[in-house]
Amino acid sequence: MATTVESKVSSDTKVLQSYLGGKWQAGAEGGAALVNPTTGDTLASASSKGLDLKAAMEYSRNVGGAELRQLTYGQRAELLGKIADALAARRDEWFEISRKNSGNTKTDASIDVDGSIGTLKYFAKIGAKLGDARRLRDGAPMRLAKDVNFQGLHMGVPLTGVAVHINAFNFPAWGLWEKAAVSLLAGVPVLAKPATSTAWLAQEMVSAVIEAGILPPGALSILCGSPYDLLDHLQQGDVVGFTGSADTGDAIRRHARMRQQNVRLNIEADSLNAALLGPDAIPDSPLAGYFVREVMREMTLKAGQKCTAIRRVLVPEEQAAAVTEAIAALLRAVVVGDPANPTVNMGPVVNMTQRKTVEEGIRKLNAQAAFAYRPANFSPVDANLEKGAFVPPTLLTVRSGSDADMVNELEVFGPVATVVPYRDKENAFDLARRGGGSLTASVLSNDTAFLAEAGVALGTTHGRLLLVDPSIGDSHTGHGIVLPSLMHGGPGRAGGGEELGGLQGLWFYHQRVAMQGSAATLTAMSEGAVDPGGNERG
Ligand code: NAP
Repeated sequence: MATTVESKVSSDTKVLQSYLGGKWQAGAEGGAALVNPTTGDTLASASSKGLDLKAAMEYSRNVGGAELRQLTYGQRAELLGKIADALAARRDEWFEISRKNSGNTKTDASIDVDGSIGTLKYFAKIGAKLGDARRLRDGAPMRLAKDVNFQGLHMGVPLTGVAVHINAFNFPAWGLWEKAAVSLLAGVPVLAKPATSTAWLAQEMVSAVIEAGILPPGALSILCGSPYDLLDHLQQGDVVGFTGSADTGDAIRRHARMRQQNVRLNIEADSLNAALLGPDAIPDSPLAGYFVREVMREMTLKAGQKCTAIRRVLVPEEQAAAVTEAIAALLRAVVVGDPANPTVNMGPVVNMTQRKTVEEGIRKLNAQAAFAYRPANFSPVDANLEKGAFVPPTLLTVRSGSDADMVNELEVFGPVATVVPYRDKENAFDLARRGGGSLTASVLSNDTAFLAEAGVALGTTHGRLLLVDPSIGDSHTGHGIVLPSLMHGGPGRAGGGEELGGLQGLWFYHQRVAMQGSAATLTAMSEGAVDPGGNERG
């Protein structure tokens, strides 16, 4: 049972503790500050200095892994359902923390908090279908030689290590649970490492689950504060799931221990996602309306701090001026300020450091792109611009995407996008691909044949494609929303990773083994195994 989750170092500053080795532990000193980006006030601090991470990982492997593997997939799915219920019961508290520590409006917080609860529920539901099995199989035994009795079968056995999940600051709830749901269902214990700047929500959620006594000992741990020597203790059988910047992803990939032990790694990194308005689009048509609204939403949701947000707006050159003006008109109506004010549509970015990084990014883009919309007298509602990390929604435009490298190379992680005119469809596809590998792109057209062509043309450089004709203009789930039933990840710059994807996501946490033997042996082996099959919705 958990002891206290946090202690006070001063009258108003919390110290976030880490839950490692089955107990709450504080680092050796105060550590990094977590701030309210609206006011600049310090909310909490987190330090992991001096914590025994080697012992923590051993505990996860030896205690958590063994406990989880005693359960069937069905039993573990039930645990996910209980986690979702425990979290849903305290939804209002999570929204409050999101507002304070991430500057989230209610809509922003919902994407993170409700997104995490929904993902857990989804895996609880589809995991239940795997029933009493404890291993995976891929299809049925197949004949391998002249002797029909000699057969082969691909099987998946749950990994015996620990899953280290290193997350980005922008989704402290969803980032934690979208990874943990799949890992726990697979039977692999989780050691989560949230980004320090917004770790409060992740830590409180883990605390709620630990206190509710839902999971067996060692199944779920959390490290709040810097990673220090975390990666030095990885070993064969462990996995690392990383979400964050390409630079950090690269450092993790090159870490000596990762290479020596060939630790399995999934990277979800930067992305220069595009939205492409088809050449057939007519100004002021319903299709153009869907397009500009989606661009505005993607720029302002979570103040543009979504890995999937639209950064490049590809439009036919003869329509560039009209589309730019239509987006600018929508941005003009966006109310920026303290998310506690119900009229506010967009809050601050996560902290002053990030604000400076975004402002620097805008300056770099502006060297090649002109401002198409940037409020003249930016004055966030109920907030002090000196103290709050506010960035105005900023739309830029280039004359030709082919001449402007920066827009295809620099991810400005804030409420910023650039309109890029294209000549014809080949030019449009070429520009979309110049993102160097992206998580997602949206293509909007009245012409379903064009959409199908775009899907194939962009498929090699994208992880997900949203192909919208007017029949789904109002009903699709949105450019930036990641669904648990579909794979999330992208090639190249986006990290080359694959997460979620329904039950297919389980394979990352299993060792795939090619079993060869007699029909009788393989039949015996298949007992207690289940084919996770396709990804039909549960
Ligand atoms: P970041 O600075 O790369 O940090 C990500 C995580 O890595 C944090 O938990 C950080 O811990 C940790 N970390 C830093 N250095 C490390 C090291 N040497 N070894 C192990 N862990 C280390 O990224 P961020 O600023 O939090 O997030 C923004 C970026 O994430 C954007 O570029 C965005 O595109 C990307 N992102 C991608 C996705 C996706 O699904 N593809 C989703 C969300 C965000 P500390 O916080 O303690 O430094």
